[in-house]
Amino acid sequence: MAVQMQNQASELRYVSTRGTAPALGFEDAMLAGLARDGGLYLPAAWPRFTPSDIKAMSGLSYAQTACRVMEPFVGADISQKEFFGIVEAAYATFSHEAVTPLVELGPDQWLLELFHGPTLAFKDVAMQLLGRLMDRALRLRKARATIVGATSGDTGAAAIEAFAGRGSIDIFILHPHGRVSDVQRRQMTTARADNVHNIAIQGTFDDCQALLKALFNDHEQRDRLSLAGVNSINWARIMAQTVYYFVSAAALGAPGRPVRFCVPTGNFGDVFAGYVASRMGLPIDRLVIATNVNDILVRTLKSGRYEPGAVVATSSPSMDIQVSSNFERLIFEAAGRDSVRVCQLMSDLAGHGSFTLSENELSFLRSTLAAEAVDEEQVECTIREVARETGYVCDPHTAVGLAAARRQPAEGIPVVTLATAHPAKFPDAVGAATGKRPHAPSRLEEKLGADERFDILENDYGALVAFIEARARVLTEPGT
Ligand SMILES: *Cc1c(COP(=O)(O)O)cnc(C)c1O
Repeated sequence: MAVQMQNQASELRYVSTRGTAPALGFEDAMLAGLARDGGLYLPAAWPRFTPSDIKAMSGLSYAQTACRVMEPFVGADISQKEFFGIVEAAYATFSHEAVTPLVELGPDQWLLELFHGPTLAFKDVAMQLLGRLMDRALRLRKARATIVGATSGDTGAAAIEAFAGRGSIDIFILHPHGRVSDVQRRQMTTARADNVHNIAIQGTFDDCQALLKALFNDHEQRDRLSLAGVNSINWARIMAQTVYYFVSAAALGAPGRPVRFCVPTGNFGDVFAGYVASRMGLPIDRLVIATNVNDILVRTLKSGRYEPGAVVATSSPSMDIQVSSNFERLIFEAAGRDSVRVCQLMSDLAGHGSFTLSENELSFLRSTLAAEAVDEEQVECTIREVARETGYVCDPHTAVGLAAARRQPAEGIPVVTLATAHPAKFPDAVGAATGKRPHAPSRLEEKLGADERFDILENDYGALVAFIEARARVLTEPGT
């Protein structure tokens, strides 16, 4: 395996889960986002670390470990020296010197705080890097791109923060008018840069997603506007999230000691990053998928049947998802990388509203994953109990993870629950559980008072395209 690492660094290619899009290098896969055959990109082979490679990570800084973990994926597209500079700059925006610090809650119970970035949710970890890598790739090509995204809250804010002011990119973020929280809207609409365009759609989040899908499936517009996607189907985001699994496990004794991770889950991006870390040689005893009542993944692991239901609104809105896009990547792995099989399952899903995994595929999933669904009462109760027992105040997404972790006895194995958002982002839910509204950090408070800027559009594809066409610089000044 070590031999494979040495000579593949410059040649790692990315293949689509659906098998017919061309294999691409790192930068092209990053700029494409979704593959043109509708699939998701994955590395053609998993780079692998030896136990001594992992042991050596325990004394390094976050940026140093990040470079070691990501270099095999980036390959020759960027020199090591330049890559280190980009990674350092991305994580210098975090307010904690450890970037993603571990907090001990009790014996063998840990929280991995991923929310010290500019928008106080874990999306910043990947987005701060993606913004810089995309901008660099476009500037070298003297090209421009147009990012269009839809958000129910956290993704939009993190993307705007990462792309604001970048000359190579215009960013348009759709949110459902009047249906995101006050904090979430202000985090997006107070951006001052000219390349940021907030659009409030008169409709629901599903309407926003449908508009976005229509735009990406309109291949003529996709090419003309040079559209790029930044949601978690983008491989570069998964790659960046793989890093903190290594950083935290090495700090807790890996490779000598296996570690368990419990991951608050929506679109399956974060759990999939954990799976990647285990494929790269990190000893992960189990990955626990923690969901709120939108429990499609729990049901799938139980029965083998993947069947989206209706989305239920909860206190952890970033996990109110029924179709977990990144699950397709794991299915591809479970099916022995058989893209014909993936296409068949996806067409079952499109045609009949569900698909069923084979016994082999299901036992593959169960060999590394467990899953727990947590209802609203348990979320509130967990926030309250953890605060009372330990003094630690967590947000509702993190509480879903902690409640799930408590249900899976670990017998001497360190359990790390990912803390995905700062409690101040969800003051109402946290206040209701503890009786005290959490204090907002100063970087959030500044935003909350600033002037807002956004346009309101009706839920109409033609209106959206006209709005973007009038503002996307790629149409008027295609080169940077
Ligand atoms: C996006 C998000 C999640 C879910 O992560 P996925 O990668 O979509 O599974 C969990 N918690 C918070 C706070 C988020 O913003």
